[in-house]
Amino acid sequence: MKLLRVVSLAMLLVLPPVGLAAQAPLEKIVDEELASLLATYQYFHSHPELSYEEKETAARVADELRQLGFEVTENVGNYNVAGRTSYGLVAVLRNGAGPTVWVRTDLDGLPVDEKTGLPYASRVRAKTAAGESGVMHACGHDLHMANFLGTAKLLTRTKDRWSGTLVMLGQPAEEVGAGAAAMLRDGLYTRFPRPDFVIALHDSASLPAGTVGLREGYALASADSVDIIVRGAGGHGAYPHTTKDPIVLAAQLVLALQTIRSREINPQDAAVVTVGSFHAGTKHNIIPDEARLQLTIRSYKPEVRLKIISSIERIARGLAEAAGIPPERAPTVTVSDGTPSTYNDPALTRRVADALRRQLGADAVVETEPVMGAEDFSHYTLEGRQIPTTMFWLGAVPPARWKEAKEKGETLPSLHSAEFAPEAETALRTGVRAMTAAVLDLMQAQK
Ligand SMILES: [Zn+2]
Ligand SMILES: [Zn+2]
Repeated sequence: MKLLRVVSLAMLLVLPPVGLAAQAPLEKIVDEELASLLATYQYFHSHPELSYEEKETAARVADELRQLGFEVTENVGNYNVAGRTSYGLVAVLRNGAGPTVWVRTDLDGLPVDEKTGLPYASRVRAKTAAGESGVMHACGHDLHMANFLGTAKLLTRTKDRWSGTLVMLGQPAEEVGAGAAAMLRDGLYTRFPRPDFVIALHDSASLPAGTVGLREGYALASADSVDIIVRGAGGHGAYPHTTKDPIVLAAQLVLALQTIRSREINPQDAAVVTVGSFHAGTKHNIIPDEARLQLTIRSYKPEVRLKIISSIERIARGLAEAAGIPPERAPTVTVSDGTPSTYNDPALTRRVADALRRQLGADAVVETEPVMGAEDFSHYTLEGRQIPTTMFWLGAVPPARWKEAKEKGETLPSLHSAEFAPEAETALRTGVRAMTAAVLDLMQAQK
């Protein structure tokens, strides 16, 4: 016994001090995992599930995280709709003292008929409110999930390099802007360790695979849906003087709404008012009773968002009055629960960008322009930006295709396109290294 102890002490003396031992670079560990990550990606790609229906997807993600040693809780989320289950999941891995870092993926696909021609293309079909449709991971949430599981894998394999609590968050119903809010409503930050930081990535249909893009401050817009019912008084198309024509009024309204952007909002502030749907009438010679408009509005600053909404209400009311519509028949304007804009905490984003440059090389890390798309990732910072959050872009376009499109001035298939086909292998290698490096940097106790 005594002798053994002497021997082991002697052995300890010849070992290099802890921390100086050669550590396998992340690149090497990713390569070891790549075949299995690609298989996971292809599985998700060919088995997409629509928003609210991510049952099998969530089960697979939960299962893989459990196998890695995470403590997994499923069905986190409350949609406030009777009978609707949330497939949100939270997986916790405690690894000593230190910060709590959350990494988020989304889980859902879209009602899109895939036209990529890939050997693992989705053939899934589903019933939607608009009829039957193909289902496709046209936004790349399959790539997000494979990245997310790869990151979880790498962080479990490098547990000696970090200290703190890692929380992996699988969020459903991103495409309908409902999942993040539902999970927060269900006590996300009280039932589980409250985050010091939340990070996510989203694939990009405009950056080449092998690169990542970051943006400090506003990165994605807020999105609100507005429904307007313009009410008039119908009658015979040959006797318009006996009616109050809601189509003429609604047409004036569509044009007048464009003056919000051009005349009421500071030109330095971004804003979009789009009328995406206009429905009225049944026949050539009947003036209908009402016309229905559906709008999406986008902005970054909360005050701009509120200004647009109040201007829509004022203009709708004012034009109706000018058309002689009595006050009790004034247009109704309904604003649905929207998604706030995504604000990337500047200090956190800079820190992540530095970690990404060290991991991928400076050339692979670019600064991106903000976009008017929206993401419900924005909810995780909470009101008043209490929790620093950041989302970065992961290039997904095959590099040769990207170069060719740039040279010829062609437009590449966007996210949500039936032809969006990411270069998965390169994007996965880059994304897993990037996200792992970011978490490792945030989890260094002495930072
Ligand atoms: Zn999407
Ligand atoms: Zn998306």
